[in-house]
Parts: sequence; C-alpha cells; structure tokens
Amino acid sequence: MYLGDEAWPDLGTYFEEESLALVPLGSTEQHGPHLPESTDHVIAEAFAREAADRTGFLCTPTVNVGVSGHHRQFHGTMWVEPPVFREYVESLTRNLTAHGVDRVVYVNAHGGNVPHLREVGARLRQDEVAYAIEWMWDESIPDLVDDLFAQNGPHGGPKETSMIQYLEPELVHDDRLAEARDGGVASVDEADTVMHGSRTFYDAADNTDNGVLGDQTDASAEKGEQLFEAATEQLVALCEWLDDQAFADLMPEDHV
Ligand SMILES: [Zn+2]
Repeated sequence: MYLGDEAWPDLGTYFEEESLALVPLGSTEQHGPHLPESTDHVIAEAFAREAADRTGFLCTPTVNVGVSGHHRQFHGTMWVEPPVFREYVESLTRNLTAHGVDRVVYVNAHGGNVPHLREVGARLRQDEVAYAIEWMWDESIPDLVDDLFAQNGPHGGPKETSMIQYLEPELVHDDRLAEARDGGVASVDEADTVMHGSRTFYDAADNTDNGVLGDQTDASAEKGEQLFEAATEQLVALCEWLDDQAFADLMPEDHV
C-alpha cells in the first residue's frame, strides 16, 4: 500500500489494524558519469514499495534529498545539512505516530544518511514514541554482494550500477561504463583513504576524479535482479519480525 495513492478513509482502515510504516530515503547526488543522480532514492523507493506490495504494509513517500555534502564538487548534487535532515526525519516520523504508527523501517539506500537515521531512531525510542530502525539493502545480503563482484564499489560501482540497470535501465549510460571505471578508482584500498590510522579525506572528490569507485563493467541487470530479489526477501522478513514484536519489548531496558 502506497500512502500517496490512498484516500484517507482507506488509510483509516489500515491504521486500525496495522502500526508499521516503511519510509524510503535516499539522496540526489552524483553517481559518476554513467548513473543518474536519483540512483539512491530510486533504489530505496523500489525496495520499500516492493516490500509494501508483498506484505500489505504501508509505504510513505520518499525522502529524495539527504546528507550528501561530501559530493558537493559535482554538478547537481543536492544536500541538506545533517541537523536539518535529522530534524526533518524525526518530524515526519512523529507525524506518522499521530496516526497510530509506532514502528518504522527507514528503507535507506545512501550511506551518508546512516548515522543520522540511527540518531533519530535512538531519540524516538528514548522518548518511547516509536521504534524506528534503519535498513540498507546491501548490508542485508553481504555474502551475495561479495560473490557477485570482485570490487563492489562502493559508490557508483557495479553494485549500484547493476541495480539501476535492473530498475531503470533507460537512466544508465551503458556506453560510459568503461569510462566510469577508468576515470575513477578501482578499489577502496587504492583510494588512500586512511593515513597512519586517520581518515584523511572528507569529500568524494578527495579520492576519485569522476566520483566513483569499482569496476562498472562488472555490472548487469541480471545481477541487479538477483540483488533486488534477495534483499527484498530480507526486508519482508524484517517487517514481519518487527510486526510480531510487542511494543514494550522494543523500548529501552529499565535502569539496572
Ligand atoms: Zn549511491
């Protein structure tokens, strides 16, 4: 069920019976010369909608702009400052609780959002308002990601390329895959991101000239489909687990 498509009386029926919502979040940021800036939010929305279709749980509209200031040197990248993002996500989650939602899955496809979503989730739980957890598709299937790619990326690499080739093939510049590989950085190790134990970089542009890592020619729509199916199964299982929990069991432990 997609919230934006429903009339309010029908949503009332949902909230009478269910208290779970899937909130997709991504980014609008450069993903190299071959992928659209919508990559992360296209992926997040696809997972959230598919899991909602399979389970009957509610999917909300997508948060399309996230914490992406580290891609600021590349044309078109959009971002909001982290405190603004956290406040916005917290506010929309509190909004959902006004309708009876008390558990939320942040279906996230952008690494830069992760610590902020976890901070918001921790605060909402501390206040005993809602139990909101962050889910990243690729972290739900680490073995398959490792099996499919010699070097999965991370950013704009074959993992994300395969996913967009599967979900929105017309948005991929297939004729630029070799250019993406040759103009970027082959592996995280080669990017020299750590010097003597310190992370010495702040922006993607510090590591890679064209914004991406990995071998994009290792991508395919077939791999994208495999990833999508496997991670969707994980997300469906997570929703079912979350739905089964008693709310009190999701709240913080008492002081010892
Ligand atoms: Zn991405």
